[in-house]
Amino acid sequence: MSDALELLRRIYGFDQFRGQQAEIIDHVCQGDDALVLMPTGGGKSLCYQIPALLQPGLGIVVSPLIALMRDQVAALHEVGVAAAYLNSSLDPSEQQRVMTAVAAGELDLLYVAPERLLREDTLASLSRADVSLIAIDEAHCVSSWGHDFRQDYLELHRLAEVFPGVPRLALTATADERTREDIISRLALHQPKRFVGGFDRPNICYSVQPKTDARKQLREFLGEHSKHSGIVYCLSRKSVEATAEWLHGQGFDALPYHAGLSTEERNRNQECFLRDDAVIMVATVAFGMGIDKPDVRFVAHLDLPKSMEAYYQETGRAGRDGQPADAWMVYGLQDVVRVSRMVEESQADENHKRIDRAKIDALLGWCEVTACRRQQLLAYFGEFMPQPCGNCDICLRPPVTWDGTEAAQKALSCVYRTGQRFGAGHVIDVLRGQQRDKVQKFGHDQLSTFGIGAAYSDNQWRSIFRQLVVRGFLSVEHGQFGALRLTQSARGLLRGETTLQLREEPDKPKKRRASVRIELELEDEDLMDALRETRREIASAHGIPPYVIFHDATLVDMIQQRPQRVEDLLQISGIGQAKLEKYGQIFLDIIHQFQPAR
Ligand code: ADP
Ligand code: ZN
Repeated sequence: MSDALELLRRIYGFDQFRGQQAEIIDHVCQGDDALVLMPTGGGKSLCYQIPALLQPGLGIVVSPLIALMRDQVAALHEVGVAAAYLNSSLDPSEQQRVMTAVAAGELDLLYVAPERLLREDTLASLSRADVSLIAIDEAHCVSSWGHDFRQDYLELHRLAEVFPGVPRLALTATADERTREDIISRLALHQPKRFVGGFDRPNICYSVQPKTDARKQLREFLGEHSKHSGIVYCLSRKSVEATAEWLHGQGFDALPYHAGLSTEERNRNQECFLRDDAVIMVATVAFGMGIDKPDVRFVAHLDLPKSMEAYYQETGRAGRDGQPADAWMVYGLQDVVRVSRMVEESQADENHKRIDRAKIDALLGWCEVTACRRQQLLAYFGEFMPQPCGNCDICLRPPVTWDGTEAAQKALSCVYRTGQRFGAGHVIDVLRGQQRDKVQKFGHDQLSTFGIGAAYSDNQWRSIFRQLVVRGFLSVEHGQFGALRLTQSARGLLRGETTLQLREEPDKPKKRRASVRIELELEDEDLMDALRETRREIASAHGIPPYVIFHDATLVDMIQQRPQRVEDLLQISGIGQAKLEKYGQIFLDIIHQFQPAR
């Protein structure tokens, strides 16, 4: 057995390496630079932690995320590794203590914020220490081409001169071709080997539903997640507040998070989310960057994100621990109108607006797909997936399509007859023959298209209009409160030169396939609750988040394997020597209390 594998088992309690971890560790141990691209939850941390532990000297980890540093260091302490962090959250005497430990060669790993690392005094002290490697996490922050650009990162190229010959590895979850090359040149990596893992997050189940009654839909969805932590994203501060309050009234432990709250309240809510089980964070996208909670079981979007990239990043916060997680979204015509208007009204120049429009169109097209959602998602990021995934709404509940040509023609001609000045709501009233004030006021009850669509419900028409917009037969005028206009391609459809297959609205979502959920027998639920409770008590006594003690996956493994003796616990994924000694007996006692009747 290699030293690295032995260490993986003894310290971390994991059976084997994932993906390219072993190769990367090998490469770094040989003293070479590397660029590591791995999806969230892929296991980037081990790629630098293990080399740092295998070699004498100190591994430096540059990270921009202060909250995350603290938790990572706590997690390392739990498995018995000598680690510390250095950032603005420490007082001077604490910082001094860390630097003394560095000088004495007592640490294996030091996490440090970039601005702190680049201070002359820090660089001077560290250059006297025996540094074995430097890992630069969230490396995409160095590129203005990527998202989340950070000025501090630009100076990190200096590390090449200050620590000559020390291998450096840059790690990120998101970087297209151009960003990757940017990272390499701006960090001045020396002939780095590129390790590019796939983009896929197989444990995330993607689903998108048409918005009918968002709250009702959300409540139904949350029914499957009553004991889980998750994030609900809303577009505005107001809807964050309202949704959090409503969820609270529905008996959920929901907290708001947006830029309008005081720093104090934001920190308090974030802390609750990190430390307690089953807290739902209702947030604007301001929330998420730097959240490294591994057991976020769902990310729900009540409003459309602004691009596929944003969607992928936001949903990527779910299921970092590799356990089943849901990315769930509802969207409707109103959202389409709203995001498009935001683009039009923004200060950006025409060129940027064009890009933004194209990004929204890509996302909308993806919302309406009729083939495997994951295949299309990966295709957008340039990755080919040969088979449908079996873990998205489309694979689990294939949508029915119908010949919508005639309905589409009615819709388009009604838009035309009403003068291309009205939004979908009004046009649908006319189609359905509703005698509303507005219909009468404009004399639209006199039109030939009045009442020709009575056979379809309001919801069915909304679905038809949404698909017509997404497929480019109608465009939304932003200046005029979402008035619909015919596009060039509408002509062919109106003349009957093309036909149109539309997606039928699915009925109530069916129960999912059991194999992709964390499914426990009823009696095991009680054991799970007891294990969670114990974990929570220990964590709060130590002032650390529960997942630092054990991940959910470890608890589930305990239930499935039912270890009898303390030694058996070493077979459980996520239990290494240190945790066995600290917590083994406590958890074993609980398992014994729940022995199934024989
Ligand atoms: P990333 O930084 O790439 O998002 P992490 O390093 O935080 O991912 O790892 C994600 C999760 O996967 C963590 O819970 C970690 O403990 C777990 N993990 C990493 N490598 C392995 C492995 N070889 N076997 C089992 N679990 C692993
Ligand atoms: Zn699929």
